[in-house]
Amino acid sequence: MDEYGHEYDLLVVGSANVDLVVGVERRPGAGETVLGSDLAVHPGGKGANQAVAAARLGARTALLARVGDDAYGRLLLDSQRAAGVDTAGVLVGGAPTGVALITVDPSGDNSIVVSPGANGRLTPEDVRASAALVRASRVVSAQLEVPLETVVETVRHLPAGGRFVLNPSPPQPLPRELLQACDPLIVNEHEAHVILGGAGGGTGGADPGEWARGLIALGPRSVVVTLGAEGALVASGDKVDRVPSVKVDAVDTTGAGDAFTAALAWRLGTGVPLADAAAYAARVGAVAVTRRGAQDSFPTAAEVDAL
Ligand code: ADP
Repeated sequence: MDEYGHEYDLLVVGSANVDLVVGVERRPGAGETVLGSDLAVHPGGKGANQAVAAARLGARTALLARVGDDAYGRLLLDSQRAAGVDTAGVLVGGAPTGVALITVDPSGDNSIVVSPGANGRLTPEDVRASAALVRASRVVSAQLEVPLETVVETVRHLPAGGRFVLNPSPPQPLPRELLQACDPLIVNEHEAHVILGGAGGGTGGADPGEWARGLIALGPRSVVVTLGAEGALVASGDKVDRVPSVKVDAVDTTGAGDAFTAALAWRLGTGVPLADAAAYAARVGAVAVTRRGAQDSFPTAAEVDAL
């Protein structure tokens, strides 16, 4: 516990999915059957990814999520615990564990069907029942693979001196109450356009600095725009700063945004300025893109320092 009574550096409120991946020569059309490779089963979902990324860096991390009372749910709980995440807040049952059914062809193009399952059953009532967990956390982060009203309920229970970080993925227009709680709102280009467009102010043209300023005008205390290999922008008030990326040979960008968000949220909780937290997060994202997979690609703090 710190002086505010915080027990966790980071609480992640969000999704936990199992990714079922099969390689195919050609993705099937309607009514068609094709043979594929052996099945690969990976733990995923943006919430579960963020929690693993933070715990691997050394953050005291908890996950508030819902999985099914089934083998995939147990697989997700095991992978969280193996990474050091506290899973006391993971609720079990109500629907099957969320899964993503993924076919990938040799060019890397994929077709994905997501069954949200238990993720869709994480309710505002679940958050109210876990309010002590929210209050026990220095920083709380969320994404939008669970119901929007569940994320909105989360910000109503933030502790005094606590901080909320949102990656609105998949993007949708956001209520003002949620936007005003974000410090920061973390978006990539696509998410920036959807949120700006939903607010009726146009999508902000081609200049990421304009997107950042446009998003700040919607209410967040700060905004981070991630730009892949181009790094990121951080904005608060009327100040926009560029955070350079680290030059690496990228092999797989899956999960880079989740690793970036988790690292940034954790660093903010240690009291460093947003630009410094984003610079650290860019190093974490850079290591993650040099390795295959999502959770498998997330580095330890020592690996980030060695970069
Ligand atoms: P998302 O997956 O949400 O679209 P990005 O692709 O923007 O997120 O990646 C998040 C962060 O990861 C970037 O801001 C950057 O710091 C780092 N990153 C992503 N791709 C690369 C890359 N090719 N080289 C170096 N860093 C990268």
